[in-house]
Amino acid sequence: MDSLTRYAEVKLTALDARTLRRTLVETIRTDGLWLERGGKRLLSFSCNDYLNLSHHPAVKQAAADAALAYGAGAGASRLITGDHPLLETLERRLAALKGTEAACVFGSGYLANTGIIPTFAGPDDLVIVDELAHACIWAGAKLSGARVLPFRHNDVDHLAALLGEHRAAAGHAIVATDGVFSMDGDIAPLDRLSDICAANDAWLLSDDAHGVGVLGEGKGSAALFPGAHIHLQMGTLSKAIGGYGGYLCATQPVIDFVKTRARTVVYSTGLPPASAASAIAALDVIAADPALCAAPVAKARLFTRLTDLPPAQSPIVPVLLGSAETALAASAALEDQGFAVVAIRPPTVPVGTARLRIAFSAGHDDRDIERLAAAVNRLKPA
Ligand SMILES: *Cc1c(COP(=O)(O)O)cnc(C)c1O
Repeated sequence: MDSLTRYAEVKLTALDARTLRRTLVETIRTDGLWLERGGKRLLSFSCNDYLNLSHHPAVKQAAADAALAYGAGAGASRLITGDHPLLETLERRLAALKGTEAACVFGSGYLANTGIIPTFAGPDDLVIVDELAHACIWAGAKLSGARVLPFRHNDVDHLAALLGEHRAAAGHAIVATDGVFSMDGDIAPLDRLSDICAANDAWLLSDDAHGVGVLGEGKGSAALFPGAHIHLQMGTLSKAIGGYGGYLCATQPVIDFVKTRARTVVYSTGLPPASAASAIAALDVIAADPALCAAPVAKARLFTRLTDLPPAQSPIVPVLLGSAETALAASAALEDQGFAVVAIRPPTVPVGTARLRIAFSAGHDDRDIERLAAAVNRLKPA
């Protein structure tokens, strides 16, 4: 066995010993709600497809039509030959949704954050990140070469103290947070973060992967804080929008600079035209149907009422269980009752906070939510 293979084996054995090894499970989704996996048919409470748009007939048709007309791929990066007109149509739609001058789409949300942050921060700069922000914000912050500091989750006083101590020594400062936190479902205090950024000449980046389409009549978490100035409004097309891709909404000069400098735009192939077409069709559905957009949070609130949990702020409800073993056992027990509710373990969440992460979608039937709530209540320690 060569030393690389040996290295991988030793690492896998160590992960197994701590119940932290992850394995892929082949899954077929045929309608945006139900899964087929491991020979079972399960009702999913683990998809981020909050509006079930991945399977909306008009959204699928738009992707199919664009693939047939323009091909399966973009052929090159956007600066070469990959800049299909559908991408610019999509960018205009995203900018209008977010109320910004312009937008730039990326290959994914992960590529967006790893491209945006190094475009605006370098070794002389400061990036301060909410400790629970998504992994790709941390990856982008590290790639930038800037000084990176965590602030305590949603703790604006801690952020202000860090800026007070470190802002003066830095060139630029970026404050980065999730708008809706992906594993906790709570919302960042964007108004107060914006005030602190203004007072310290810092630029605010909000990652609204889980807010767009479901909060603020589909406009996202920023719409809940109309006075907040969010310089960099980032998000993904891969969750409520039902497809694949990422985006940044900002002023025209910021977007123009991203399009000439962000390495994940310049050196990565453009989004396939079919992905742009499906996202545009999804945005049409979102614009036409505010009741659909409000449904996932209403479903989550029904569940938190039935389980005596704090009222849901988003479609994501965490049920904290502590150890990885307990979370896995709970997930297996729910699977036996026909529910797909994935256990989330470290390092995705801090040690000791393994959990079920329950995600609600507009298509969930209230009776199924009642059954899930009863099953979760039975799991709770007496
Ligand atoms: C899912 C997610 C991303 C990554 O988006 P993709 O399009 O899946 O790469 C970024 N940020 C947050 C908060 C997310 O939950």
